[in-house]
Amino acid sequence: FLPHLVASMEEVEETYIMIKPDGVQRGLVGEIISRFEKKGFKLTGLKLFQCPKELAEEHYKDLKSKSFFPKLIDYITSGPVVCMAWEGIGVVASARKLIGATNPLNAEPGTIRGDLAVQTGRNVVHGSDSPENGKREIALWFKEGELSSWTPVQEPWLTE
Ligand code: GDP
Ligand code: MG
Repeated sequence: FLPHLVASMEEVEETYIMIKPDGVQRGLVGEIISRFEKKGFKLTGLKLFQCPKELAEEHYKDLKSKSFFPKLIDYITSGPVVCMAWEGIGVVASARKLIGATNPLNAEPGTIRGDLAVQTGRNVVHGSDSPENGKREIALWFKEGELSSWTPVQEPWLTE
């Protein structure tokens, strides 16, 4: 076992990050994108989009039985969202850490929700919870041709 190989053992993953309508309305788009850029992840998809009800329901289908589901669908469809695909080593779990706990009052300072939000029903950003859901959600929100595969010039300065 070679400790210096730990990082390279970690998988390159994709995650779906979405700035919710409150984040767009509050002028937090640049701030939120910036956190993922500065960390060193690679943006592979980006669009401003008015989400139809059916798509919101499909995206959150696991929460269908929850009492807050109708409110959640109203929230997500209440204005444009910013849809993003991000790629990187361990990006799924790392993005969830950058985002912080679901309830912004429990989210640590330094996280997006911890710094920028107060209520669960207005928690400004979504991030996929597993690599499988990352792929599923990117396929759900983006069409073919909307994603770009590219090599950032900084890559050798971020990964060994
Ligand atoms: P996440 O993965 O941290 O976004 O949290 P979940 O997957 O558990 O829930 C998805 C989204 O549903 C959350 O980000 C909230 O916007 C919303 N949500 C979750 N729980 C509640 C709740 O108790 N009340 C309300 N109003 N919204 C909730
Ligand atoms: Mg979730």
